[in-house]
Amino acid sequence: MAKECAVCGKTISLLEKSVKLKYAGAHLCTACGHEAEQLLYGARNLNNVDDEEKLNDVIGDIKENFYAELKKSHYSPYIKSILKDELLYNIGANAFRKVIIRKYFRAGFDEADNAVYEAGKSASETVLKTDLVKTDAFSQRTYIFEKMFLRTESYTSLHVDIINSGGITIITTIGAGGGDGYSNNDWGTEKAFVSDFWRAMRAKKRMFMEKETEIDNPARIEITKDGFGVTNRIGIFGGTFDPIHLGHKALGEAALREGSIDKLIVMPAKVQPFKQGKRVTEPEHRFAMAKLTFEGNEKVEVSDYELNNTTISYTYDTMKYLQGIYPDKKLCFILGTDSFLMLEDWYKGIELLENFSFIVGDRPGYREAELDEAMLKYKSKYGTETIKITADMPDISATEIREALKADKSIDDLVTDAVERYIKENGLYN
Ligand SMILES: [Zn+2]
Repeated sequence: MAKECAVCGKTISLLEKSVKLKYAGAHLCTACGHEAEQLLYGARNLNNVDDEEKLNDVIGDIKENFYAELKKSHYSPYIKSILKDELLYNIGANAFRKVIIRKYFRAGFDEADNAVYEAGKSASETVLKTDLVKTDAFSQRTYIFEKMFLRTESYTSLHVDIINSGGITIITTIGAGGGDGYSNNDWGTEKAFVSDFWRAMRAKKRMFMEKETEIDNPARIEITKDGFGVTNRIGIFGGTFDPIHLGHKALGEAALREGSIDKLIVMPAKVQPFKQGKRVTEPEHRFAMAKLTFEGNEKVEVSDYELNNTTISYTYDTMKYLQGIYPDKKLCFILGTDSFLMLEDWYKGIELLENFSFIVGDRPGYREAELDEAMLKYKSKYGTETIKITADMPDISATEIREALKADKSIDDLVTDAVERYIKENGLYN
């Protein structure tokens, strides 16, 4: 089968000495692969270190160097992510370390389950689908995929465990069986199989996120949010909020619930760039209404940063500012489908996509095919992580509220009681 360079797409001839990322499952042509070869050199030549302590140091140095050089490289975020996989698998294989790259899905259990099954089916000859274990706390399935390697006449199996808890589905085990079937120490025999599995997974462009962990026994994994590093995330919800309504409230709360964020920062905008020239309610009122809407929710902070700025704040600038305040946190910008689809056209849109994550929420089914397509495009072009939240959100617009108020109609199912009172007391939108 002809192989294509994962970077430039050109067909790699049989005679060409291509660079094979054997674990991650990709080929790079000679020209494109030169840099990758240098990046991976250390990890590929690890096998002569026998002192455990020295090994840790060597691996530490290799990683540090790799990540520093990778940052400077010209590869796309997608290729960079493949190279990271390859590095970790190389370390796992060559140092006999139990390095696992856990893939975790924001999708529910069934969707992740199906993705694993389909990828396994295309990589193997036999799929043993074991019983599903479901408790109140988690759902788990173990797959055993089997394949005959004709060249070596060996028969090998690949164990994949997926487990779901608290809305996150994780591939906890991916590897071959030593005695207990769960240990990941037998990297030598099934690596081609593992790479076939991931290739199939990628070919279907599944949305999953990655986290490297080193663990003693993957079978005895504890499902906690901390354990999977999915906390440490802050959601930023910006908008004119003129006025803030129950649709905003539902989206913010859904982001907290389904988006695995620890904290929600609601950021009323001074004047959003595309609303210039339109009359916007005074900042202090929009700020006060935002506070009232999320009153009592300890995870929500309403920020007056943009309101206090002398100039219009673009999302990118605000996100950079917040990243400076929270250097260790992953920042996720929360927005609706329509805005998400236009992100590339935003001010510094590409930089936004490259540096931050997104939580997209809208009514179920709304432009869903386009949304899925955009998520895949951003992921492959910029490495962007996007979480789609599916909460049922009321279809309310601020315009509708302003018009209702002008016509002296009730707005009591559009905003919170406190906001309704505030609007009346301050004579807004008359
Ligand atoms: Zn190439």
